[in-house]
Amino acid sequence: MRDTTKSEASFKAASKVIPGGVNSPVRAFRAVGGVPRFFTHGEGAKIYDADGNSYIDYMMSWGPLILGHAHPKVVEAVHAAASRGTSFGAPTEDEITLAEMVKDRFPAAEMVRLVNSGTEAAMTAVRLARAAAGRDIIVKFDGCYHGHSDAVLVKAGSGVATGGIAGSEGVPQATADMTISLPYNDSSALEDLFAQRGGEIAGVIVEPAAANMGVIPPKAGFLESIREITSRYGAVLIFDEVITGFRIARGGACELYGIEPDLICLGKIIGGGLPIGAVCGGKDIMELLAPTGGVYQAGTLSGNPISVAAGIATLRELNEPGVYEKLRRNTEILARGLKENFDLTGVPATVNAMTGLLTVFFTGEAVTDYASALKCDMNRFARFHAAMLKEGIYLPPSGFEAWFTSTAHGQAEIEATLQIQKKGLGYRA
Ligand SMILES: *Cc1c(COP(=O)(O)O)cnc(C)c1O
Repeated sequence: MRDTTKSEASFKAASKVIPGGVNSPVRAFRAVGGVPRFFTHGEGAKIYDADGNSYIDYMMSWGPLILGHAHPKVVEAVHAAASRGTSFGAPTEDEITLAEMVKDRFPAAEMVRLVNSGTEAAMTAVRLARAAAGRDIIVKFDGCYHGHSDAVLVKAGSGVATGGIAGSEGVPQATADMTISLPYNDSSALEDLFAQRGGEIAGVIVEPAAANMGVIPPKAGFLESIREITSRYGAVLIFDEVITGFRIARGGACELYGIEPDLICLGKIIGGGLPIGAVCGGKDIMELLAPTGGVYQAGTLSGNPISVAAGIATLRELNEPGVYEKLRRNTEILARGLKENFDLTGVPATVNAMTGLLTVFFTGEAVTDYASALKCDMNRFARFHAAMLKEGIYLPPSGFEAWFTSTAHGQAEIEATLQIQKKGLGYRA
């Protein structure tokens, strides 16, 4: 048994001054039990806790760290930027560089507004959609997460699913009534809704490949149908690529599936591990933002020079030849290996994987939407999580989350993970 004395003491102390001891709910380990580990440092694919235990990390800060922890190029960029000044509240040239890099990867992103989180990006995208369409209703999909602003906190995936609540207290009913949530991967539900209420719908926001109810790729034709229906009814299509952007392909789902949304939300990787978000889209809709237009949006720390420097350094590294091929291959090897090992031990499991992310669902059936994700055996996940953690594999502490791989997860890390999976008994019972 690994020593967790220091993490336990810190969690007790934290719980006195921080609600639940954590600054984001899923970190509290409520879904899996046990003590949340307090971390001191990370390097590549590894993280180290306060008691001196090391782990191969498959959470990777929930997605930003596609190059691994403390990548030398990113650390160097952060040091250099910090030494020049941490914030100006005025423009810097690096913001142009980052916006141009986004545009290069996402042709639909003619213009880019940097914000401080994925939440802010989605919140601003929703406001822009409403202004552009002159309508109020927003359509989302069950199990998709778009941050924690009121408009999108309806059937919002992992965090709330783990807590066992449909949405959030404190969201006015009148606001929740402006959001309609439909089953993911169900084009005909969307078609039916638009047939009834198309004239009221401002926009549709979707994770083009879902990753917040576990990884669920879009069915063939699903994204095409959303694009076609929104265009036909004059509604704005928002791709929330906060996870998928720069991960499932260099140009995210837009590139992988060949679809141009009206607005794109970015976050996570674009800040290289520092706080950031971005809302992007065509010039016409983006210029509705203040100061060129009447949609207000602002931020004291927006375009923060340290976040921007880390983002630029990360995107540059991702331009190296073969990066995505390697990430895809390694993720595939891991996903296939996990599935084979479960099959050998008779554990019913479905592994959904894309480039750089995967989820193990403890069910024998295909997982294609939120309803099928909810059917998984979460008690088994909790036992599996505990067994892996004890042996030094750090999985996200909820069965509704994606596991993230990085360019630092090589053959050695993957083989070690599969060996430990074979050895681990806790999840079998
Ligand atoms: C993480 C995430 C967000 C929210 O981003 P934060 O930076 O945590 O506010 C929004 N949308 C998706 C798809 C995400 O995965």
